[in-house]
Amino acid sequence: MEKEVVNCMSISIIEDFDERIRELKEHKEVIDAIPIESLDKRYLQLHIENQIHEYERRRSELSSGKFAYKCSFCNGFVKDSIIPAMVKTLVICDACTKTINGVMNANDAEEQWDLPKGTIKQDARPGGPLEEFKKVQLVFKSGRYWQIHRTVMESYYETRSKKHNQNNERQTRGESK
Ligand SMILES: [Zn+2]
Repeated sequence: MEKEVVNCMSISIIEDFDERIRELKEHKEVIDAIPIESLDKRYLQLHIENQIHEYERRRSELSSGKFAYKCSFCNGFVKDSIIPAMVKTLVICDACTKTINGVMNANDAEEQWDLPKGTIKQDARPGGPLEEFKKVQLVFKSGRYWQIHRTVMESYYETRSKKHNQNNERQTRGESK
């Protein structure tokens, strides 16, 4: 998931609100233009005014970032001044975005951390050193391939390789190819 896409999504929800507000206002003009005064007309006007008001309120909360969003993944409230990533009705907090982005396949992880090919598969065997990480889904199998979270690489493999190789600081290469 690219960061840019996520940002576009939060902008697009504001644009969706703008579009909805515009439509409602057009609708209201049509109702306002009805030449007969009636309770029905008044009811429709009030109803549509309320809708416009509600959309405008949500839009301003959204653009000011004061709104407490609820993350669809961890159910936690986001009280930051930063608008969390939103995809239509899905809200993804910053922490969850980082968590999701942190999952990588074993091949890529071994390459980035200069580990011999197959190390993770070997360590992920039943009763192997990654057993505890497997229990909390930080290491898991997807189809034929092992997936591993960045945190495991940093907390387990990185500390181990530092002990063996103190002065060989890992250079983080380009994140994506
Ligand atoms: Zn979350």
